[in-house]
Amino acid sequence: MDLLKKRIVEDGTVLPGNVLKVDNFLNHQVDSQLMDKIGVEFARLFKNEKITKVVTVESSGIAPALTTAIHLGVPLIFARKHKSLTLTDNLYTASVYSYTKQVSNDISVDKRFLNAGDRILIIDDFLANGQAVQGLLEIAKLANVSVAGIGIVIEKSFQKGHTLIEKSGVRLESLARIASLSDGKVTFVD
Ligand code: 5GP
Repeated sequence: MDLLKKRIVEDGTVLPGNVLKVDNFLNHQVDSQLMDKIGVEFARLFKNEKITKVVTVESSGIAPALTTAIHLGVPLIFARKHKSLTLTDNLYTASVYSYTKQVSNDISVDKRFLNAGDRILIIDDFLANGQAVQGLLEIAKLANVSVAGIGIVIEKSFQKGHTLIEKSGVRLESLARIASLSDGKVTFVD
């Protein structure tokens, strides 16, 4: 998606540890117009997949997942990272190691929101080592729902996540694929 790549080059900052900071359009301030176009693109890519729900992890996945859900005309579910008083024990839970925060978190989805017969599309902002997506795939398995595919806004193709998902056989669509962040410079796969 050329518009997204252009924005990454213009506004992205490369931080130590192969972290790309894009907090002025994706991770803190959100460019709502760009998010809408991202939703249109994911909806176009997955329109024939009979998706019943879009699933992501809070918080950075919510913006692109919501616009995708709007354009597919289905609900959005975001897995929650913190147990709250309003979350009951009736949960599907997986443990996820966070790439940027370097801690493990449980992520949970209330059992009421995933039902046998659902066909989900997983959306996330970044793919690095694939831990977040792996956690969502685990929850999908626990809930006995089928996974139509995975949509990633920015994939760091030089890290482990891409290969991990490829091995799982689930369809992966990434809108921007980064080959390298060496020397503070963003190089795309194509
Ligand atoms: P993974 O679980 O694939 O290792 O990492 C994915 C999660 O870590 C994403 O949901 C995202 O929040 C965060 N993440 C991984 N790499 C980056 C990065 O380079 N920049 C930002 N802003 N977040 C990242």
